[in-house]
Amino acid sequence: MTRKSKVLVTGASSGIGAMYADRFAARGHDLVLVARNAERLDRVGDRLRTVHGVGAELVQADLANAEALNRVADRIAVDEQIGILVNNAGIAVSGTFAEQAQDDLAQLVAINVGAVTLLAQAAARRFAKAGEGAIINVSSVVGLIPEFGQAAYAASKAFVTTLSQAMAIELSGKGVYVQGVLPAATSTEIWARSGANPASLPPMMEVGVLVDAALVGFDRRETITIPVLPDGGQWEAYQDARKAMLPSFGGVSAADRYSTA
Ligand code: NAP
Repeated sequence: MTRKSKVLVTGASSGIGAMYADRFAARGHDLVLVARNAERLDRVGDRLRTVHGVGAELVQADLANAEALNRVADRIAVDEQIGILVNNAGIAVSGTFAEQAQDDLAQLVAINVGAVTLLAQAAARRFAKAGEGAIINVSSVVGLIPEFGQAAYAASKAFVTTLSQAMAIELSGKGVYVQGVLPAATSTEIWARSGANPASLPPMMEVGVLVDAALVGFDRRETITIPVLPDGGQWEAYQDARKAMLPSFGGVSAADRYSTA
C-alpha cells in the first residue's frame, strides 16, 4: 500500500484546524500540527496518536512572526512527505475599523493574509514540481459580506477567496488541487478571542459538521466550498455576473456614463 501524504495544519490547537487534524487522522494521514500554544498542541497530538494511531508532529510557531513563519514555509518547501496543506490559522478583531487598535489590525493582516500567502506559495511551488498535492485555504463567507461590519477581517477573507480561485486556475494543470473553504458562523473560540460581545453572537454551525461538509467538497475537488449554502447555483450565478463584466475591463476609454462631454 502506498503511504498517505502528511497533512500540515496551521491553527491546529483548536476549532476548525483541530477538527481538520482529527478528520485527516481518521483517514490515516500523519499530521504536522502548527500553532503557538504548545500545551494545547500536545493534547491534540496525543489524542490523534491514541485514537487514530497516526503520527503527529508538533511545531510551535507564531505565524505573525517573520522568523517563525519562514521556518514553517521552509519546512513545507523541503519536506516531500507533506502533500496537503490546511492553511487555516486566522484571527478576528472586534470593534469598528476606525476604533480597532493598529497592532491588532497589523496582526490580523500578518496572519490572515501574510502567513496564508507565504505558506500557500511554499506548498504551490513544491507540489507543482511534484505534479501532485492539495492546498486548503480557510476563508469565510464574511469575505462576501462588506455589510458585516468587520472591514479588515472581511477584506482579508476576500483576499483568501480570490487567492484560492486564482491559485486553482494557475495550478490545476500542474496536478495541484486548491480549495477555498468559506465557513459561516461556526462554534469555535474565535468569537471569544476576538472580544465579541457574547450577547450578540449569531447562531452557529458545529465545527464537526463544518469540516465534514468541507471535506465532501474536497473529495469532489470543488474550488470553492460554502458548506452553509443550500443552492450552489447561487455561487455559480455570482461568478457568471462577475465574468460578464470582464470583456469591458479590456476597454481603454471611459464608459459613456462617466462622460465629461
Ligand atoms: P480558533 O478556534 O480561534 O482557532 C484559531 C487557530 O489559529 C488556533 O489554533 C490558534 O492557535 C491559531 N492561531 C491564532 N493566531 C496564531 C498565530 N499568530 N500563529 C499561529 N497560530 C495562530 O478559530 P477558528 O474558528 O477555528 O478559526 C480557524 C479559521 O477559520 C480562521 O482562519 C477563521 O478566520 C476561519 N473562520 C472561522 C469562522 C468561525 O465562525 N469560527 C467562520 C469563518 C471562517 P494558538 O492560539 O495556539 O496559536
